[in-house]
Amino acid sequence: MKRTIPALLAGALAALCNVGSAQTAAPPPYETKKVDGTDNVYVFRYGNVQSMFVVTSAGVIATDPISYAVPGASKVYVSEIRKVTNQPIKYLIYSHHHFDHIAGGKPFKDAGATIVAHERAKERLAVLQDPNTPLPDQTIAKTTTLTLGGTAVELNYLGLNHSDTTLVMRLPKEKIIFAVDIIPVGSLPGRAMIDSFPLEWEDTMKKVLAMDWDKLIPGHPGAPAGRLGTKQDVTDILTFLQEASAQIKEPARAGKCWEPAEKDMQMPKYSKWPGYEQAMPLVARRYCGLWGRGT
Ligand SMILES: [Zn+2]
Repeated sequence: MKRTIPALLAGALAALCNVGSAQTAAPPPYETKKVDGTDNVYVFRYGNVQSMFVVTSAGVIATDPISYAVPGASKVYVSEIRKVTNQPIKYLIYSHHHFDHIAGGKPFKDAGATIVAHERAKERLAVLQDPNTPLPDQTIAKTTTLTLGGTAVELNYLGLNHSDTTLVMRLPKEKIIFAVDIIPVGSLPGRAMIDSFPLEWEDTMKKVLAMDWDKLIPGHPGAPAGRLGTKQDVTDILTFLQEASAQIKEPARAGKCWEPAEKDMQMPKYSKWPGYEQAMPLVARRYCGLWGRGT
């Protein structure tokens, strides 16, 4: 069917309008924001990944240098810190060992930062030998408080969850936690399920709920609009994991994994959540592995 001239014009106009609105709506590639209600706590976001840094009178405590997927992100991160303060970057803390958050730490090492991680993270990174990921200089075995310039950052090892190397960082005075990949804010865990420990993860969430904090900075911007999380978000994700687990358990024990249990996996209550379609197969696969194979 031939399109008329007015239809073509209308199409062109619509395309232009779409471009216009997309440009207005698209967030900048990276951004640094001070957390409301604090003097010295910042969130640095690059693409879809973000980290917390804290400026103290004796230097900067930074976390997660961001990713292998965006070469140069960690250099931008250091320059963004430099726009806020001339204090030396004393520490770089790895939230866990996954490269989408911690590859690219060299600019921080070059700036003189000491890299801190859980001891299991160092073991894993030592095996992987990723050329973009410097090994930690210091490791911790259990919950430890790091203090710099009068600011305390509590590094909590809460056991197995999304990984076996996760540190949940808490600023006791500011009542803020930085938790990466263990509590998605306003979205469902999908790829975060891949090498997770689902049952122990529930225990971690209960421990996080018992901690004293008001605001959660997630490792990926919260939905909608990059919001921070609350304890309600933790409860929501805990409930989601418990329901997903319960739903697969019986068919798995009846020998219905991988098929048809994975194909049948639907959780209509969550169908409006961002990432629902992508998350369901990954969630189903993980719980089929757990209840169907013991993995
Ligand atoms: Zn991860």
